Amino acid sequence: MFKRVLLTVLLTTFLYSCQQQPEADICYTISPAVVDSIPHLRIKMTLKADPDGTTELSFPDKAWGQTDLYNSLGNMQLLNVEGIVEKDADSARIVLMHPKEVEELEFEYFLKQDFEDDVSTTKVYRPIINKDYFHVFSHNLFMVPENTKEDLDIALDWSAFPEDYTIHNSFGSREKEQLLMDMDLELFGSAIFVGGDFRMFNGDIEGNQISLATRGEWVPFKDGDVFKVLEETLIYQRNFWNDHSQEYFTVTLQPFPQESGSSFQGTGLTNSFATSVSNNDQTDMEQLVYLFNHELMHNWIGHTIKNDNEEEQYWFSEGFTEYYTFKNIARNNINGLDGSFFIAEMNRTIRDLYVSSVGDAPNSEINYDNFWANYEYSKLPYWRGAIFAFYLDQKIKQRSGGKQSLDDVMHQIYEDATNKGQKLTHDYFIGVMDGYWNGDFQPVFQKYIEEGQKVDLVALFDGLDLDYSPESDIYELGFEFTQNRKGIQSVTQGSKAWEAGVRAGDEVFSRSIWQGSIDHKVELGLRRNGEERNISFYPVTKAKVPQLKATSGNLEKLGF
Ligand SMILES: [Zn+2]
Repeated sequence: MFKRVLLTVLLTTFLYSCQQQPEADICYTISPAVVDSIPHLRIKMTLKADPDGTTELSFPDKAWGQTDLYNSLGNMQLLNVEGIVEKDADSARIVLMHPKEVEELEFEYFLKQDFEDDVSTTKVYRPIINKDYFHVFSHNLFMVPENTKEDLDIALDWSAFPEDYTIHNSFGSREKEQLLMDMDLELFGSAIFVGGDFRMFNGDIEGNQISLATRGEWVPFKDGDVFKVLEETLIYQRNFWNDHSQEYFTVTLQPFPQESGSSFQGTGLTNSFATSVSNNDQTDMEQLVYLFNHELMHNWIGHTIKNDNEEEQYWFSEGFTEYYTFKNIARNNINGLDGSFFIAEMNRTIRDLYVSSVGDAPNSEINYDNFWANYEYSKLPYWRGAIFAFYLDQKIKQRSGGKQSLDDVMHQIYEDATNKGQKLTHDYFIGVMDGYWNGDFQPVFQKYIEEGQKVDLVALFDGLDLDYSPESDIYELGFEFTQNRKGIQSVTQGSKAWEAGVRAGDEVFSRSIWQGSIDHKVELGLRRNGEERNISFYPVTKAKVPQLKATSGNLEKLGF
């Protein structure tokens, strides 16, 4: 008896690798390799063979806006049997043909980075594999069996990486051997895997592990400050929802070079959030604070509380997320930001909505086609929803003498979503709001969301006795491009564009426009009657757009 136990222990200790783990349904052994002096990842997988002699693996050639992902893939071969391997890019499949009597397949493939230039916004969703590190999303790294309904036990064996090489991913940190029990393949496929010269920051919130993995030399911020913002954001958000159920959560933060302007890419994944951020002095911490707070808030608004019909409830999933981003940051002084940040963000949102060419469009126009193809429509639910949330928050506080707020509404919606699987439908939202409103809420919802009318902010501010200025500078481009954007179609008389000399019929040979910004000059190169001229102006106009003042009285009345 004793001998047998000893033998088992010896076996697991000495021969630990994928094949020796009888409990896993699929094993991946990932190791570094250099082929023709190009760094690769070599992935060896063992899996059950299909008894009909054809085993199909999912692996997309197109995903997340990227095409030709198979360019990264090479040296595919079956190791334990004779067989044929075929790529089928159109159906996103790798097909393994093998003898029918085989029970288990050992299959190997190599992955490389398929571009030579620097990482950029368009390249962050391709496999990044170089001598210093790798950064690869699950769907570009791991082939998984087609048509598998049930959950699988998956073993990951990070083998032969140097001792000081960080291995970090959505399922664990610095674990060279990982066993993911009862893994839903969809959750497995929505994950980030990094390795190499990443620096790790770890923390603990109520017994749950959080971490940040980052690399490179950051220009705009220090690692420690980023981790502090992440930690604070998670603590306050989890406390707000009273939800400390997530045992492990990690953020990856990858820098990429960019000459001008700032750029943030963030993707919410299983147990994780993967970000890639421009590394220059035009990028700043406040933008990152916003990104973390908005995106991580989606864990509850959008993820736990699900829209019934996607774009139709974006006023809620984006707009209310936006509002709680501002509120959560200000209420908890994240990165030192306070109530004046909240007021500044609400003012900007108000201006943006007033300037929008679709600011009064009915909710039904925020549909798939418009939202994904048109900038104005893509922003509308954020602005409209955030102002609507602000309006409701203030009204509920006023009606209840400060005893209730929109927070209570959100908690009730969250509980119904968790306990009853309630989705966010318009009727459901109206029903919840009826309990917090003076009278019937339906007409209010009809007016401000369904019909898309603007909230009367002057009446709201007057009613709450808030200090505001009735007029403000807002963005006005002052002219319209022709359809092909190579000429000026029309100019608004009296606008700054008009005053600067822009005229209908001018040809445009160069331009620099910061959409929506009143702080950056519009610069145009125009051609008229064969003569070229360069024109610049601030795209500003005065309009009856009320703006809150950041007075101490206002801050107090708004609860800061
Ligand atoms: Zn969002």
